[in-house]
Amino acid sequence: MSVASFTSAATVDDALAALAAGARPVAGGTDLVVGARQGKAPLPERIVAIDRVAELSGISELDGALHLGALATHSEIATHPLVRERFTALADASAIVGSRATRAHGTIGGNLMNASPAMETGGPLQCLDASVMLQSSRGSRWVPVAELFGGPGATTAQPDELLVAVDVPAPAEGTASAYVRLEYRRQMEIAVVGATAAVTLAGGAVSAARVAITALAPTIRRVPEAEAALESSDGGEAAVAAAAAAAAAASAPISDVRASEGYRRAMAEVIARRAIEAALARGRGELVPIPASSGGTG
Ligand SMILES: Cc1cc2nc3c(=O)[nH]c(=O)nc-3n(C[C@H](O)[C@H](O)[C@H](O)COP(=O)(O)OP(=O)(O)OC[C@H]3O[C@@H](n4cnc5c(N)ncnc54)[C@H](O)[C@@H]3O)c2cc1C
Repeated sequence: MSVASFTSAATVDDALAALAAGARPVAGGTDLVVGARQGKAPLPERIVAIDRVAELSGISELDGALHLGALATHSEIATHPLVRERFTALADASAIVGSRATRAHGTIGGNLMNASPAMETGGPLQCLDASVMLQSSRGSRWVPVAELFGGPGATTAQPDELLVAVDVPAPAEGTASAYVRLEYRRQMEIAVVGATAAVTLAGGAVSAARVAITALAPTIRRVPEAEAALESSDGGEAAVAAAAAAAAAASAPISDVRASEGYRRAMAEVIARRAIEAALARGRGELVPIPASSGGTG
């Protein structure tokens, strides 16, 4: 676990200079440092701590849109009133990350940049059309979350790019969302299988739908076939069943110590159905407690 150089950035410019010189950023350290302690990957030679960079903190709202600083923690996200009311799938996701300690230190930037196919916030952010701002000493660019994940544990960001913010546009009127994961226990767990649904209801019909699958493919991804099964439907049992079956059909899971490929594929349909039902129920004004994984339907 030896590190050749460790610095602490006070500003974004400090952090960008360190990244340009080859350092890796550490935010909450709940992936990078905990992983190194567990022997999953050695610590990088050069590290720059970004946890004291005030410009990267905070959650704000502008005209109904949500702005998350890269250092927004899961606790801050899960308890934020606007997130809970309008971006509910994201609250469902952040509320179940790890344990109370993990949520207090783990950040949205670290969660996204770790790029695990089983991480919680990627599905909700994709279904809610979020983008991230990547900044380096060469400039900055916005990247849709859907285009950030390059493969298991890999992003499309350059090594000298810092994720500075996540922006989520205001959802259309009548939109509700939910994220549900299959978990073997309530704490210190990641998704065995997960699914997100976001639906827009107009006059009792589904006018728009988003469905994403988690821990079921090399990257978290949306399933257009599941979305098509819901769109223009009445959101009834047949449409929900067709959408959940489409989500399962789009899955390409792996077998590992946590579940076999066959079990994951079978559970994909169940979990997708629960996420879609929870989003529809919320859209109809029914109470589905946060997190939907433990308090939701099904
Ligand atoms: C016990 C335990 C349970 C967990 N349970 C869950 C779970 O249920 N669900 C889940 O999704 N995750 C879980 N995690 C993983 C982890 O807590 C989250 O992914 C967390 O959000 C990581 O954030 P962090 O700030 O601690 O990241 P760090 O460890 O600081 O960084 C993670 C990676 O992202 C990079 N990075 C961090 N910030 C930035 C940035 N702003 N720009 C560019 N790169 C950056 C780092 O270089 C590193 O590669 C768990 C971890 C532990 C230890």
